[in-house]
Amino acid sequence: MGLLEVNDVNKAFGGLKALDHINLSVNEGSVHAIIGPNGAGKSTLLNCLIGRLVPDSGTVTFNGRSLVGVKPYEINQIGVSRVFQTPEIFGELTLLENVMIPALAHRDGTFRLDAWHRMDHEAEIRDRAEAGLADVGLAEKSDMVANSLSRGDKRRLELAMCLTQDPKLLLLDEPTAGMARHDTNRTIDLLKEISERRNQTMVVIEHDMHVVFSLAHYVTVMAQGGVIVEDKPENIKGNPKVQEAYLGG
Ligand code: ADP
Ligand code: MG
Repeated sequence: MGLLEVNDVNKAFGGLKALDHINLSVNEGSVHAIIGPNGAGKSTLLNCLIGRLVPDSGTVTFNGRSLVGVKPYEINQIGVSRVFQTPEIFGELTLLENVMIPALAHRDGTFRLDAWHRMDHEAEIRDRAEAGLADVGLAEKSDMVANSLSRGDKRRLELAMCLTQDPKLLLLDEPTAGMARHDTNRTIDLLKEISERRNQTMVVIEHDMHVVFSLAHYVTVMAQGGVIVEDKPENIKGNPKVQEAYLGG
């Protein structure tokens, strides 16, 4: 039994079957990539995992617990963290403050802006936040304002915000989208390092094959709402079904 189990999930928008009998099993400690052409259903599936969408039928089980109908913040609290495609950070705050917010929310199970100034455990939260920034190589920029960061650093900041919550499962939606090659490589190295050092379970949605082949232990290929192939990355590249889906899509 995987840490995350998706069983026979269906989701339609009107007459369109966005997810058509989807099964997925993600083992603890593994990096599992989901790839597929535009419109395949990847984002819809991800949204079903974080509570933004509720499947029409089927089950989603995380750590033995059903996620169907559970609110996004509760899913986050039980250990699922997501890095968004567009970084959701607090642009006017410093990097340290950005990471302290989820660190505090994680400890207290809630966050109120006014809690900021009467934090009981400020030193503890600060240490945690600093460790999160160090994890992604941003320690020396902790006093900078988030808006002043490069695009790549903003995404690393968001990753730090997720890591500080010690997620059991980290979901990444196209973590290298819009990055230049050297920044992409830096991100791959960082994610690999985090995967190994923390034994971090990850689900990565990705278009960039280079990222998938250097990072993933296992790959699920989706097309037109269905899973067409599941295999190790080395077996995916030459698979005619995958080539057809990409050429056709
Ligand atoms: P991917 O992320 O793989 O590109 P999506 O999950 O975004 O694919 O979309 C799958 C299909 O569902 C597409 O045909 C898309 O147009 C459709 N779709 C996604 N979200 C909605 C929605 N909220 N309402 C209607 N159709 C949607
Ligand atoms: Mg998408």
